[in-house]
Amino acid sequence: MTPDQSKKAQHKTDVRACDPLAKAEEAARIVCQGERRKYHRFRPARFYGGIATADCVGCCLSCAFCWSWHQVARPQDCGRLYTPQEVAGQLTAIARKRGYPQVRISGNERSSGFPP
Ligand code: SF4
Repeated sequence: MTPDQSKKAQHKTDVRACDPLAKAEEAARIVCQGERRKYHRFRPARFYGGIATADCVGCCLSCAFCWSWHQVARPQDCGRLYTPQEVAGQLTAIARKRGYPQVRISGNERSSGFPP
């Protein structure tokens, strides 16, 4: 590859990295399989008076302040696929055990793979 071709390839990579629609499609290909979606953990959280939390994998943005950047940058290396029923089961089990009135999905972008 010539230096000019190398610069062009890098530019294409940079533009793609800044295109949230392209990133959303790429993330969905990695983190969604039918109705199953990748999650990397289920946890109790003290926020909002106590809330059971499922942290999903995959996001179409690149926020500088992101606290879960590893799951954003390397979704292929994080978590595993769960059905909606499995996610609901994990969340309700945590909520019941802790006496939490709320559940949530957090961590990365929850709507990855949703129909447009
Ligand atoms: S997970 Fe949240 S903070 Fe991180 S890049 Fe996505 S939208 Fe931004």
